[in-house]
Amino acid sequence: MRTPTTAEVGRGSMQSTVVEIDGFRGQLISADHADYDIARAVWNGAIDRPPHLIARCIGTADTVAAVRFARDHNLEIAIRGGGHNVAGTAVCDDGIVIDLSAMRGVRVDPVGRRAWVQGGALWGDVDHETQAYGLATTGGIVSHTGVAGLTLGGGVGWLMRKHGLTVDNLLAVDVVTADGELLRASDHEHPDLFWALRGGGGNFGVVTSFEFGLHSVGPIVLTGPILWDATDAGEVLRFYRDFVRDAPDELGTVVRFGAAPPLPVIPADLHWRQVMMVGTCYAGPITDGEQVLRPLRTFRTPLLDLVGPTPYVGSRARSTRLSSTVGTTIGSPPTSPNSATTSST
Ligand SMILES: Cc1cc2nc3c(=O)[nH]c(=O)nc-3n(C[C@H](O)[C@H](O)[C@H](O)COP(=O)(O)OP(=O)(O)OC[C@H]3O[C@@H](n4cnc5c(N)ncnc54)[C@H](O)[C@@H]3O)c2cc1C
Repeated sequence: MRTPTTAEVGRGSMQSTVVEIDGFRGQLISADHADYDIARAVWNGAIDRPPHLIARCIGTADTVAAVRFARDHNLEIAIRGGGHNVAGTAVCDDGIVIDLSAMRGVRVDPVGRRAWVQGGALWGDVDHETQAYGLATTGGIVSHTGVAGLTLGGGVGWLMRKHGLTVDNLLAVDVVTADGELLRASDHEHPDLFWALRGGGGNFGVVTSFEFGLHSVGPIVLTGPILWDATDAGEVLRFYRDFVRDAPDELGTVVRFGAAPPLPVIPADLHWRQVMMVGTCYAGPITDGEQVLRPLRTFRTPLLDLVGPTPYVGSRARSTRLSSTVGTTIGSPPTSPNSATTSST
């Protein structure tokens, strides 16, 4: 196999095309490839960075090869998990993107209550497989966030009050270090590295596999958003502050401000109205959840109450649809609202 010279792949040589990396079996995408613009696009559509090369890995060996190649050619590296980071750090100018988006496998051991998740998986992939056994671990609020970036940053979500942050459920990782070495890190193997990975973000290596502990969840949970008019926000927030202080750990909530999205579940007369929304998920018995949530659901007559028994997987998809519109500028009417999100802990 021919390895390109530094001159061919070096920074600033956008015209050249890399054809091979030794030991790499995935897809190499450079600027002249038909998929280049799709492959460099990330969740935040405002990010427009042209990497020199995208190395789309299909396994751990590819990741090792890509890291070693980048190191040999002095290329800046960006790592792409789910591509969801708002700052667009999954893509870099003129360096190499080590793209794990084709590595979305999830394996579940229902007896040992563990899941092994590849480094490019999304939370929807994890929920889909673990919920087949009535199990779950703390992931993000929505289903299309990447497991890798969220986990390495700590990870907050619906289940965290009961089951801890995502990193509290992380048992071990397979990680390719900057010098291209493949390690397993856990409390017992390379514990310092494992400590850093549990919340320290990227830059400690490329994680190709995560091992998580799982818990019984659902599969039906009591969940959904409650909407109040934004002018009631002061009173509702004060009530909410006291309410969540004493709420049982089974209840996860998220507060959001913005415009009510034009979704079929929302009556037309509320579309684009400025609202305060409390998203809820009670991951315990439905009847207990109904009792726990009653005071919040009846406070100051909400504009809309969509709380109901829902499959845990479906609820994450619904959160995804809501969050892609409430409080964002996507498809918004002439006056776009600002948004802010806070969650109970
Ligand atoms: C709509 C929305 C909802 C969100 N909801 C939540 C939420 O509920 N809870 C929460 O905790 N966070 C949430 N976040 C934040 C989210 O966790 C981060 O943006 C996270 O970085 C996304 O992970 P990703 O894999 O998609 O990131 P990417 O954009 O792919 O990567 C971001 C960075 O993570 C690192 N990284 C990615 N993959 C790997 C890997 N395999 N190995 C090593 N490093 C890697 C790299 O440094 C990379 O630059 C949300 C973000 C958005 C936009």
